[in-house]
Amino acid sequence: MSARNILVINCGSSSIKFALVNEARDDFLLSGLAERLGSPEAVLHWQQGEVRDSLVIPGADHRLALSQLLPIVQRVAGGELHGIGHRVVHGGEHFNAASRLDDASLRAIRQIAPLAPLHNPANLQGIEAAMKLFPELVQVAVFDTAFHQSLPEHAYRYAVPDALYREHGVRRYGFHGTSHRYVSRRAAELSGLQPGASSWLVAHLGNGCSTCAVENGRSLDTSMGLTPLEGLVMGTRSGDVDPNLHGHLARVLGWSLERIDAMLNKDSGLLGLSGLSNDMRSLEQAREQGHPGASLAIEVFCYRLAKSLAAMSCALRRLDGLVFTGGIGENSALVRSTTIGHLRLLGLQLDETANARCVRGVAGAIQAADHPRVLVVPTNEERQIALDTLTLLDI
Ligand code: AMP
Repeated sequence: MSARNILVINCGSSSIKFALVNEARDDFLLSGLAERLGSPEAVLHWQQGEVRDSLVIPGADHRLALSQLLPIVQRVAGGELHGIGHRVVHGGEHFNAASRLDDASLRAIRQIAPLAPLHNPANLQGIEAAMKLFPELVQVAVFDTAFHQSLPEHAYRYAVPDALYREHGVRRYGFHGTSHRYVSRRAAELSGLQPGASSWLVAHLGNGCSTCAVENGRSLDTSMGLTPLEGLVMGTRSGDVDPNLHGHLARVLGWSLERIDAMLNKDSGLLGLSGLSNDMRSLEQAREQGHPGASLAIEVFCYRLAKSLAAMSCALRRLDGLVFTGGIGENSALVRSTTIGHLRLLGLQLDETANARCVRGVAGAIQAADHPRVLVVPTNEERQIALDTLTLLDI
């Protein structure tokens, strides 16, 4: 049998990110983005090797954008498309692994939507459009939360009245599971260890950020919670704040819940602290030029990250290594070095030459000699989604 092709789709409310993955190749055959869907400026961009192209699709919705994408995908895949893998943000307690999309799984994803009101409905729009357009293809949902369904109850419960969990699902779910799963497995492979018999702390640092404790291929704790707001400082999200902050702002400033939610999700994090940008690259440049807000934002980001990693170590019986991934984790030697500087009690120390070398997709070990392993491992969520889709094709 020739190597199979899987189309991976990640639908937002007005965008579709996609990648065509061939099981025998590390690079993508095709990748791209349809954006500003539903507006007169809707546009489809794609890249095949070094060649970039785009098509304006004014007013296109998800279905129209996918129908424009289909012939491009079929051409690049030589007419051999074997399945579609959809990224779905929230699988609640219903999904602890990827699932074939059928009436029952679609019903479950709809029922879970109140837990992810911004994300799951957008994911569903893409799934429904793709199922109408490609009815003969196997389609699979891969959930950001599924990997963390192995958390023990003492790690996933909040100390709030039991009925809120039993009746309303108020608990910690965790996100970025596809990335944590992929990089912890790669870390084991790169270190000559068995994924099923090794222990990792993982820091996924992109626009959204989370840490995870992975033992023997299972997630045992993670920093995001009921929603992706909990935990680390992120691009525009605050991460942990005093839970009384909502009440305080409502009383003192008369702010509505919507305004407080928007502030914590969109105006906080690196952007809020620096007053400048949510983008780590820009902040590093501004810090070089002496911008105090940029310096503070990076310092808070790294200190809080180190605290979270130290907390995650409680979940593990042994540590085979700490892994950095995501746009910041894969590229910022400064963030890695500052964070590890706060983790001396775990015995961690970097080789700064190796640290500086691991940028722009270069993986490797960056610890100083005779210190616990620290790795940079580029994530590849699209590849993991394609692998999960292929596994379900085989069943
Ligand atoms: P992601 O969401 O994984 O694409 O990550 C986005 C984040 O990675 C943004 O904060 C970027 O500024 C950051 N990033 C990308 N490249 C670099 C770099 N060379 N140095 C520092 N941060 C970077």
